[in-house]
Amino acid sequence: MKLQDKVCIVTGAASGIGKEIATVYAREGAKVVIADLAKDAAQATADALTAAGGQAMGVAMDVTDEAQVNAAVAEVVAAWGGVDVLVSNAGIQIVHPIEEFSYAEWKKMLAIHLDGAFLTTKACIPHMYRSGRGGSIIYMGSVHSKEASVLKAPYVTAKHGLIGLAKTIAKEGGKHGVRANVICPGFVRTPLVEKQIPEQAQTLGISEDDVVKKVMLKETVDGEFTTTADVAEVALLFASFPSNALTGQSLVVSHGWFMQ
Ligand code: NAD
Repeated sequence: MKLQDKVCIVTGAASGIGKEIATVYAREGAKVVIADLAKDAAQATADALTAAGGQAMGVAMDVTDEAQVNAAVAEVVAAWGGVDVLVSNAGIQIVHPIEEFSYAEWKKMLAIHLDGAFLTTKACIPHMYRSGRGGSIIYMGSVHSKEASVLKAPYVTAKHGLIGLAKTIAKEGGKHGVRANVICPGFVRTPLVEKQIPEQAQTLGISEDDVVKKVMLKETVDGEFTTTADVAEVALLFASFPSNALTGQSLVVSHGWFMQ
């Protein structure tokens, strides 16, 4: 058990990558908080983990709403006494050429990916400092934290920004034993990606099969999607690493799409 009784908040954990991370953390003994937009979806995910023998609670949290973020973190601290791990994972995707992005869509993307990371970090980090045990903050970046693709200007901008945030938090948190790192996955077949396949096919004027083979997986070493399990293993490493030796880093898990 690598996370026995550690209180771990995972945002966007009612679906996809976040749900898998929550499942792996629960398997490793953590007290897992499923934080997502809808309380019922968050609670249903938490109930499934509890039924499987884990410890989990669901909280409603729109990561762009400061009052909701603070209230949800306060609820967690009241129930479980602190916060040891934050996985800032909630995210969406909107794809357009830059000239077709509305300002509202641009701001929505930056709000969920960057404001959400800021607000959840700000709410959780005082509890990590106060406990004397330190903690681990993990931002869900992307290969798009390192590399650009057409149609994704706000996503690429936000995901690059998370690396700057993680490096800063790593420096500020170091003396308190708080580490901050970024996971940078390649394409993972979650609802977020399923939605993009027909959208990109239409925008680029190619078939859905070609979007998968010639756009999404073209640069991988083996034409394979990264899986939620792959990403969750990296999230477990960052959460359970025992010292500040691993901080301020970004780790790409992408079947070799991007190599650094
Ligand atoms: P997903 O759509 O399966 O899950 C995203 C979750 O975030 C959903 O449960 C949704 O309700 C929640 N969410 C959305 N807006 C929110 C908000 N304002 N507040 C709280 N929760 C909110 O998507 P996923 O693929 O699992 O994506 C998770 C993260 O992984 C995102 O940050 C995404 O950018 C990143 N990522 C995904 C891929 C991929 O290929 N799927 C690759 C690299 C990075």
